[in-house]
Amino acid sequence: MARANGFHFLQIPGPTNVPDRILRAMAAPTMDHRGPAFQELGRHVLQVVKPIFGTKSHVVIFPSSGTGAWEAALVNTLSPGDTVVMAETGHFSSLWTEMAKRLGLDVRVLPGDWRRGAQPEAIAAALDADKERRIKAVCVVHNETSTGVTSRVGEIRKAIDATGHPALFMVDTISSLASIDYRQDEWKVDVTVAGSQKGLMLPPGISFNGISEKALAAHKASKMPRAFWDWTTQIKSNADGMFPYTPATNLLYGLKEACAMLMDEGMANVFARHQRHGAAARKAVAAWGLETVCQDAREHSGSLTAVWLPEGVNADKLRALILDKFDMSLGNGLSKLAGRAFRIGHLGAFSDLQLMGTLAGVEMGLKLFGVKLKASGIEAALESLAAAASERGAVRHAAE
Ligand SMILES: *Cc1c(COP(=O)(O)O)cnc(C)c1O
Repeated sequence: MARANGFHFLQIPGPTNVPDRILRAMAAPTMDHRGPAFQELGRHVLQVVKPIFGTKSHVVIFPSSGTGAWEAALVNTLSPGDTVVMAETGHFSSLWTEMAKRLGLDVRVLPGDWRRGAQPEAIAAALDADKERRIKAVCVVHNETSTGVTSRVGEIRKAIDATGHPALFMVDTISSLASIDYRQDEWKVDVTVAGSQKGLMLPPGISFNGISEKALAAHKASKMPRAFWDWTTQIKSNADGMFPYTPATNLLYGLKEACAMLMDEGMANVFARHQRHGAAARKAVAAWGLETVCQDAREHSGSLTAVWLPEGVNADKLRALILDKFDMSLGNGLSKLAGRAFRIGHLGAFSDLQLMGTLAGVEMGLKLFGVKLKASGIEAALESLAAAASERGAVRHAAE
């Protein structure tokens, strides 16, 4: 078997490709996490991460995968037996739901068909019907990574406001933060859940809670048992730039660099880039004569595109073929979508030309696998990207 040359195309929707700038920033000796050099780093990252969340409030950082930040959101704000509403959007909302049940919460699931986002009307109806105000929190996954559907968080906020219900609003932004427009303060999100290995362009290993004042007040009254995840001990240490236990120091070097890169590009440009790549990928899918999993034009994701395959075409075999022939990893179909869909990740550190390489690999794979294509998706994506390029200014060379 010949050895592959050039870059491996890691086109799963997270973990994403880590840019050289960030890899170099993390290649540092381990340090005294109670010393003055760390304190300076701690103070810095705890501040520069805030604009990425669109907040001026606290953001705490845990040494964990995103799942830890899900747990932290629940155990820091709720009490045993509290009722929470979970909007079913796909695999990830189902995992968060399962976790809430295991923690002893009373979970009301708003069912979904995995092809649409959380429905603002359904959330409003659930809150309106709750005359006794038993519901303590509404939980939504902003970008459902299993389906490529982005829920309309701003509209959900408006729907919640219209009911006058005091429930907390918690949003999982693990695959949308630093990729898809998100505004914690403006949308009055009480807890934002995030992770390092997707839009933030870092390796896996740190997770985040963005915390509103209202969430902090709920925290003071909440009675769920918690120790490792406790916000109070985090916030107390963070006031001096420190952490209550050993933080993932080298990942924080990477975070500092990631925030600098995002600010340098400008968040509006970052969001536009992801949108453009989503739009071009969908042009390719449509030209091939295939369907995206997402069925609502308002909810297409800028982070990834999930492609629905015709009956009888096994998505996992197709992905295995593409990995073997072209050294590219694509995302698998998760739970209900296993074997039926595959996912093209286009988030994080990514360019027009990388997207074209990715789509070329998918198109060649589809042809080799014997899937009948209507037309060239490459052609369609090229036109879409070229049209977008003619509209915008020059970019500074990435190596500069
Ligand atoms: C990746 C992901 C998770 C899980 O995060 P881990 O880091 O694997 O624990 C949760 N929610 C969403 C939306 C994700 O994309």
